[in-house]
Parts: sequence; structure tokens; C-alpha cells
Amino acid sequence: MTAYMDHKDLANETIDDARARQIADGVHRVLDGIAEAESASGRAAGEVRLLAATKTRDVGEIMAAIDAGVRMIGENRPQEVEVKSAGLARLCAERGFALGAIVASGSGQTGAQSPLTPLPFHLIGQLQSNKINKVLPSVTTIESVDSFELAQKIARRAAARGVTVGVLLEVNESGEESKSGCDPAAARDLAARIGALEGLRLEGLMTIGAHVDDEATIRRGFAHLRETRDAVLASGEPGTAECRELSMGMTNDMALAIDEGSTIVRVGTAIFGPRAFI
Ligand SMILES: *Cc1c(COP(=O)(O)O)cnc(C)c1O
Repeated sequence: MTAYMDHKDLANETIDDARARQIADGVHRVLDGIAEAESASGRAAGEVRLLAATKTRDVGEIMAAIDAGVRMIGENRPQEVEVKSAGLARLCAERGFALGAIVASGSGQTGAQSPLTPLPFHLIGQLQSNKINKVLPSVTTIESVDSFELAQKIARRAAARGVTVGVLLEVNESGEESKSGCDPAAARDLAARIGALEGLRLEGLMTIGAHVDDEATIRRGFAHLRETRDAVLASGEPGTAECRELSMGMTNDMALAIDEGSTIVRVGTAIFGPRAFI
């Protein structure tokens, strides 16, 4: 267990009105910012989806974001997925949403018969192979796949459960050593090999923007991810036809990422405020 989990009850479902309003304001500001960036970039409204990055936030805080208009969430740590999933799924079902791959207990409804609207649940943080089984019952997509070996292991576990898991290939476009992600030069071939695996659905590529002030450097990484995605799609290789998503852009570089073609922005701080832990 990570230390901060001892300090905060992440399964807590009740937050006060002031905190709920703060989060709602954050969601509205971010959604407005996305719409402005789409328009400034000449992109169609609604092309870019908001994923709320919910690490260190409790169930009550996450539901406040969903009540304010968030329609996709992403967690970093398998332990947090485990602690929050049941509460989130139940409260989502009450509001008409089916969270991730979770079959809400008591709903008695699954798959095509479900009257619930899907609300995607992604894993956006590093995944060790011994934690795959912790996240598969909950998440629809794993964004942090950065090696063929990890993809193979996820594929095997998915096949054993009879499910198909969405994956994004994470690319370390900035080359910063602190970051996970595959070598940008290897991304195209790796994407094709991963897309061919049974049990996985290759949905796109993901990167974390360079941690620098220079806009041109940040843009270059995003642009390269887009070029790689276009090359993967154009390759016609088996399993690459759905590789459309570009998950790039966070609180500080969202507008740049949208201008470079992002389809999913992952935003935490601008919605929930600064993190108290980590
Ligand atoms: C925390 C996190 C985010 C969101 O970061 P903010 O700067 O708080 O918006 C996005 N992506 C990943 C992988 C993260 O870990």
C-alpha cells in the first residue's frame, strides 16, 4: 500500500457542498477550455474527450466530477482501482452509467441489454504484471502498455477471462528518464505487434508531455505521436484499424495537445485542485 492511502479513506462517498461546488467549477472550466482549444485549432466541437485523472481523490470527489459532466475517468494505481471500484460502480449505476467493465451488483443487467450508458474507466499509470488481475475486472482500457511482454501478459489474462481489453501504447516522446513508455522509434512496429494479439483491442497511443517550459519542445513530442498514429493506421496491419486515439495533454499542456491532434486529455489538478499526496 502506498503511504498516502493510509491517510485518506479513498472509498469515502460523502463530501461537503463547498467541495462539490469547487469540483463542479473545475469541470466546467476544463470543458470550456477544451471547447475553446478545439475552436482555436479549427477542430470540430466534441472531437476531444475529457478523462478525469482521479489519483488520490475519493469516491465522493470523483462522483462530484461525474455529476458535473465528466464521462471518462482514469486511475494510476491498481490499489486505488480496487478500493474505489465498487462504490463508484454503484453510484454510477444509480445515475444511469455503467462504469468501465464492472457489472454493478444488483443491477442484473449486462452487455447489450443494459439500459445504462457506458462510462469508460482507464488505467493511466504504470502496471506491473502481477497487478493485471486486480484491474481487469474494472477497467475498459489500459493506457500504459509500453512493451510487447506486458501486452502479451494482459492478452493472456484477458483471454482467460473471456474478455477483450482496450490498450493504448504509451510512448516516451520526451525521452525523459523518469517517464515510462516505449522508444518513439520503435512505436510503430510495436503497435502493429500489439494490435495483432488476441484479447486486446489497440485503441491508440498515449504520451506524457515533456516537462519543460519550451512550447516547441512539448509540441514536437505531441506531433510525433500523431504522426506515429497516422502511420500505424495507414499500415493496414491486422489489428491496427481502431488505433485512433491520441491520449495526450494534461492540466498544463492541454491546449497545445489539442492543437496537435489530441483526442483524449487527462486532467487532474485543473478539476480537483492540487494533490495533497504524491
Ligand atoms: C496525474 C496524471 C495526469 C493528470 O495530471 P494533472 O497535471 O494533475 O492534470 C495525467 N496523466 C497521467 C498519466 C497522470 O499520472
